[in-house]
Amino acid sequence: MQAYTNPKRTPVFRLITIAAAGMSSFVIGLWGIRFGFGEQLGGMSAHVLGGIIASLCALAASLASLSFFAGVDESATFVHNETQVDKLTGLHSRQAMIGRIASAAAATVQDGKPVFLIDIDIDRFKQINDAIGYTQGDELIRAFATRLRDHVPPGSEIGRIGAGEFAVLVPDGRATSIDRMVEKLIEKMVEPYRLTTHLQSVNLSVGMVAMPKDGRDPIVLLRRSNLALQNARASGIGNWSVFHPDMGHLAEYRQWIEAELHAAFQRGDFHLHYQPQHDLATGAIVGYEALLRWRHPKRGVIPPSEFVPVAEETGMVVPIGEWVLRKACADLRTLPEDLSIAVNISPVQMMTKDFIQRVRAVVAESGINPSRLELEVTETAMMQDRERAAQVMRQLTEMGISVAVDDFGTGYSNLSYLIDFPFRKLKIDRSFVDRIDKDNGGAVVSTIVGLSRALGVRTIAEGVETEAQGTLLRAAGCDVVQGYLYGKPGPLAVVGLTSDPAPATAMVH
Ligand code: C2E
Ligand code: MG
Ligand code: MG
Repeated sequence: MQAYTNPKRTPVFRLITIAAAGMSSFVIGLWGIRFGFGEQLGGMSAHVLGGIIASLCALAASLASLSFFAGVDESATFVHNETQVDKLTGLHSRQAMIGRIASAAAATVQDGKPVFLIDIDIDRFKQINDAIGYTQGDELIRAFATRLRDHVPPGSEIGRIGAGEFAVLVPDGRATSIDRMVEKLIEKMVEPYRLTTHLQSVNLSVGMVAMPKDGRDPIVLLRRSNLALQNARASGIGNWSVFHPDMGHLAEYRQWIEAELHAAFQRGDFHLHYQPQHDLATGAIVGYEALLRWRHPKRGVIPPSEFVPVAEETGMVVPIGEWVLRKACADLRTLPEDLSIAVNISPVQMMTKDFIQRVRAVVAESGINPSRLELEVTETAMMQDRERAAQVMRQLTEMGISVAVDDFGTGYSNLSYLIDFPFRKLKIDRSFVDRIDKDNGGAVVSTIVGLSRALGVRTIAEGVETEAQGTLLRAAGCDVVQGYLYGKPGPLAVVGLTSDPAPATAMVH
């Protein structure tokens, strides 16, 4: 690890130097006696006095060289600890990791055995840190590092290269199947962490490069593994990916979004579309889901799947989300009393400290009846910090606002959590509706409906596109439906207030 000293040669070298310093001082002392003092001084012979002075000189010189080397040692250790070791976890620092990657790349060129570099990042670590406080945030990082150490293949090198980001170097293809190894590692790393105050769940994004195929320069390799990681995060399909040269364009696009979001918000690029929700028994529209739209003056419409994740990472989702809530509440005032509006809430927004106060203020300001407002939260938001999420949901319920669990069935959650959270509706994800007439899709939907009944909550199915799906959902006992079959999202004035759940014709997407 140390690049400063050769531990085998150093002690001998130091002894010789210290002895040489002492000897030369002794010789200088003798020389002084020979030429400087010819007489007796204070009854003491010049030779005796000279001998004492010479010994003192030798001692001083030896001590000086000793302390010089001790100082060098201390500084070397200090510099080493400051730059090579991550203080919080004891893992390699980013700088040390760069050195390790460089050595591994050089070795792989010589022996031809592949080496893998894996970049692991805790999703939205900054927001988690803000929500749980820095002490707990540090505790989470330490626990994460300890678990990582325990589960990487033997001989791997691990570094902490960002706040919640880690790099793992897996040498010489020791893992029989690197894919399987990464999957098992992710499985282990997403298990909840027991912190002093609560159980913390995390999501991960992981990217991988193989050496020498994907490069030899450590900086380039780190950038490429991070590009793969960003790709995994943006794709939403699984949470890891392997580097591919096309990924550079995606990263540029994401950077552009990040740079543009603030100005877009100021400029008023954002607006809301509404998609109707129909009661399956009566066919009547019972409410609308508000869906955010970004129309960029030059690039045109940018879908939420592209900009919401970036807004979550940068925290811009907090002001944007508050604007959505305010606008939806204002629009709700223009709708008949028996209709409601559902607003999507990002996990980042929900975990901000003053979330409840802000919702309360917006609802009060708009003067709407809170029971007409529904907030859609995802399982991911609920699982990140279960206790806090349950508290937020309880407070919303106390205010009379209803909570729906969006994209139900797609998260990592354990069904037992459902008992801890107060909510009114389960929103069956489009992926299940899509498969309702294939394989076991129907059985899954029926089970979700049965589960909701047992819990005393309603079910809404999203993404209903065909008559067959609608019929099967009705047979399964689903309460409410939403999808292109009944109406595509569009401006409020366009989606209309029809109560006929007929396929949409002139809806704007
Ligand atoms: P979501 O909340 O699950 O919204 C449903 C998505 O499915 C919407 O996509 C909607 O347009 C689409 N959809 C509805 N019916 C159908 C259908 O029959 N077939 C198909 N293929 N798709 C259908 P959209 O508007 O692109 O939104 C995507 C996601 O972006 C939303 O998923 C939600 O997670 C997020 N989002 C949208 N608006 C907001 C917002 O205001 N705040 C936050 N935090 N997230 C938002
Ligand atoms: Mg939704
Ligand atoms: Mg959904």
